[in-house]
Amino acid sequence: MAEHSPYELLNRKRRGGPLDPREIEFFVDGYTRGAIPDYQMSALLMAIAINGMTADEMATLTQAMLKSGEQWHLRDSYDFIADKHSTGGVGDKVSLILSPWVAACDVKIGMLSGRGLGHTGGTLDKLEAIPRFNARLSREEFERCVADANCVISTSTDGIAPADKKIYALRDVTGTVESLPLITASIMSKKLAMGASGLILDVKTGSGAFMRIYQDSKALAQSLIAAAAGSGTRVEALITDMDRPLGVAAGNANEVIETIECLKGKGPADVMEVTEAQAIRTLVMSRKYDEASAKRALDEALSSGRALEYGRKWIAAQGGDPAICDDYSLLPQPTNTIEVKAPQSGFITHIDTYLAGMFTVDLGAGRKKADDVIDYAAGVMFDRKTGDAVNAGDVIARIQLGHAKKDHEELKARFLGVVKFGEEPPPPRPMVHEHLT
Ligand code: URA
Repeated sequence: MAEHSPYELLNRKRRGGPLDPREIEFFVDGYTRGAIPDYQMSALLMAIAINGMTADEMATLTQAMLKSGEQWHLRDSYDFIADKHSTGGVGDKVSLILSPWVAACDVKIGMLSGRGLGHTGGTLDKLEAIPRFNARLSREEFERCVADANCVISTSTDGIAPADKKIYALRDVTGTVESLPLITASIMSKKLAMGASGLILDVKTGSGAFMRIYQDSKALAQSLIAAAAGSGTRVEALITDMDRPLGVAAGNANEVIETIECLKGKGPADVMEVTEAQAIRTLVMSRKYDEASAKRALDEALSSGRALEYGRKWIAAQGGDPAICDDYSLLPQPTNTIEVKAPQSGFITHIDTYLAGMFTVDLGAGRKKADDVIDYAAGVMFDRKTGDAVNAGDVIARIQLGHAKKDHEELKARFLGVVKFGEEPPPPRPMVHEHLT
């Protein structure tokens, strides 16, 4: 690779000048190999976070990061295989429900997913609440699960986008996580390295999303779609609501139980609506279905029990115990449950979903440091949600404690600080805001 001057290049980007593709490749390649030190990469990340990137620069950055490691080109091995990504939220168990549901409609789906980040829960953490579930699969094991169950969810292997692993760790400690081009390149380098035939993006918006403001969420969705141009992976995005926790459960084991209830056709309406919207688009992308036949197939998969059957096959394929579908006591159990009651009559007008997520993390359901151990039984059940009418004294939530000892009164007071009450119901918000292609 041609020599470039990191100093000259950093100076130019700091002034807002453009970088040419070879310069971006030089930086990403050099940093991944250890030839460019953390301090120079940190300076570049900060210059990008402040000055942004052109669409061309962003496309080059994404490509350079994806080429830093293995490329699976899964779409070459299957007629169609789907992938799905969520930008993250609280109570977001959509991937867990969507995978076996779509699989039951004869469409394959595989995901390389992440762990919890900040206030948001992680798909892998939830799955690891299932006894013996193996979420660290090799590529061979990943493909065996697709063969056995039509679906799989695993952690990204070390070989996928190693540049992102290094850069992400640096962003985490240099205040450069919230940058549209850096988020885009990070997400899409991993997604395009797996190389599914179709990718559905669930871009969250509202108080529990990384992008809280609608226009920012939309800009992220457009940026993610643009980064896939010419890659061979078809990409669509749905902007969905994260201004309230999704469903009733937020945590890990409790979200697995809610997932199974959804697969039994007994899921909360908001989760089912968001999951079904994404499942329909996934089936349509496979070109085996149109919108109407996709909806019929999904309804039939639920009512016939086939979605649940694929749930069992999938858990077994990844080494987990499918008996959890019939006996929830096989999952980690809370040591104590604290009821939180409404202090007044009226309506719940808002739940600050970021704070609700942080509350759940502090119970032990997420990590504050990379090496924290998850308490799988800890979490919150949101028995009443935004817009619900309540009478003073009604139970609005149940706080589930795991191993950690906590002051119950302090927890209740803190939880009530996250919920707003009023005389009038809040204006309704749709669960699915927009579909972008
Ligand atoms: N998820 C990622 O993988 N990368 C980001 O930068 C943000 C969310």
